[in-house]
Amino acid sequence: MDVERLLHRHGVDLARLDPAPHVPTWQEMRDHLALLTGCAVCGDTCLSAWIVDTESGPRWVGLCQIHTPGVLSELVAPAVLGKTGAVHG
Ligand SMILES: [Zn+2]
Repeated sequence: MDVERLLHRHGVDLARLDPAPHVPTWQEMRDHLALLTGCAVCGDTCLSAWIVDTESGPRWVGLCQIHTPGVLSELVAPAVLGKTGAVHG
């Protein structure tokens, strides 16, 4: 399941997500993960930062361990994945 489908299934309002850069650097992804207030779905602690394309541009999405698609329980580093491109540094 991709992130956009996950958000849609949970009825998350994409308009309330923070605008994101089109091509974020790893530093931006990491810094923003620290700023995310909680999982976009349930509000739990964010494990991963994602960027999704919306009608009004790319938006940041934070997801917890439960809602991060395909996440492994032993994963400790932020997962940097997204439809607009992944940046690993
Ligand atoms: Zn969650």
